[in-house]
Amino acid sequence: MTPHPARWPLLDLDVPRARAAGHKPVPFQQFVLKIHSRCNLACSYCYVYEMADQAWRDMPMRMSRATADKTVERIAEHAGRHGLPGVEVILHGGEPLLAGTEWISGLAGSLRDRVPAQVRISVQTNGTLLRRPVLEAFRTLGIHVGVSLDGDAEANGRRRYAGGRGSFEEVAEGLRLLASAEFRDLYGGILCTVDARSDPVTTYEALLKFGPPAVDLLLPHANWDCPPPGSGHGDWLIAVFDRWYGAPAQETRIRLFAELIQLVLGQAAAVEGLGLLPTTLVVIDTDGSIKQLDSLSSAYPGAAGTGLHVAADSFDAALDHPTTVARQMGADALAPQCQACQIMRICGGGLYPHRYRGGEGFRNPSVYCDDLIRLITHVSDRVAADLRRLSKARSRR
Ligand code: SF4
Repeated sequence: MTPHPARWPLLDLDVPRARAAGHKPVPFQQFVLKIHSRCNLACSYCYVYEMADQAWRDMPMRMSRATADKTVERIAEHAGRHGLPGVEVILHGGEPLLAGTEWISGLAGSLRDRVPAQVRISVQTNGTLLRRPVLEAFRTLGIHVGVSLDGDAEANGRRRYAGGRGSFEEVAEGLRLLASAEFRDLYGGILCTVDARSDPVTTYEALLKFGPPAVDLLLPHANWDCPPPGSGHGDWLIAVFDRWYGAPAQETRIRLFAELIQLVLGQAAAVEGLGLLPTTLVVIDTDGSIKQLDSLSSAYPGAAGTGLHVAADSFDAALDHPTTVARQMGADALAPQCQACQIMRICGGGLYPHRYRGGEGFRNPSVYCDDLIRLITHVSDRVAADLRRLSKARSRR
């Protein structure tokens, strides 16, 4: 499907001009494969099923073998052409475990056999189907597992089955197994979508009970036309940051905060939605179409589309798509307000889908701008205070 020109995210982006200005393409290194288009949950905030883009209705349920083979071939081609030492393949959905362990095993084997690079494979699951036979197969194949969970049973109430029943008990059972000594090596972490109405510290401590090696905190997908649910996301994150940063020993790695501290200290960060490093992530949908960041679907129907397909196009073609170029251009793709912002180098304008406004596209500050300012200022102040204390202590020696 070719996106309607009037819908293209950056109407004023001229790719040849961007290339002439020195914005060279950066090869993709993260490939998100949507191997199953349906989910056994019906979470109220899910951008795939509950927001603007309802394209999943036309998708095959499971990626066909032929599409999976072609996708592996394209990843191998891209890795070989660019001499990539390693790539990451993230199996996603819908709910990827609905594809079946045998099907996933076939795909993993093919990736390891054919891609001329180190391949890290992970699966991002809602955890309801995570049981011993699945984990035993994943251990054999070296597939890491990330689980989505929003806190305790109450906070996780939005993650429910279509009939309204909560999913917490099933997910907790899967997580306990994953955290056990037998499978812990596979445990990638927990992904939690922030609900500003829940208590932040209670939520964080509920996640800690499952011993995650890492926690990803995700702001709910929103944009200037579809505002965030509730307010106070910045304060919510600050409360978790203080609980995490002030712990006597690090209990888990919260990627958002760890990368933020790196940025505050002047280094680069590798998390999408912070800083100015070019994105290297591309999505392959269940039917083989090549897409942008999946969460762009939250903006408008077709926003994530590139019009490219693994059967006909290499990933190099996707590198030249205006949205990829925009997501690799750093500060030059940002709104004037962001370019003039004092914390632009740290914030990076926020996650790309959060900048969307109908009729204008994506050259706007994030709809979470105020929250980002509060969080970044708070983290900077705490790190600066610790550095001052350290420097004083040293000068006394
Ligand atoms: S989104 Fe807001 S905080 Fe971030 S760079 Fe833009 S203006 Fe600054």
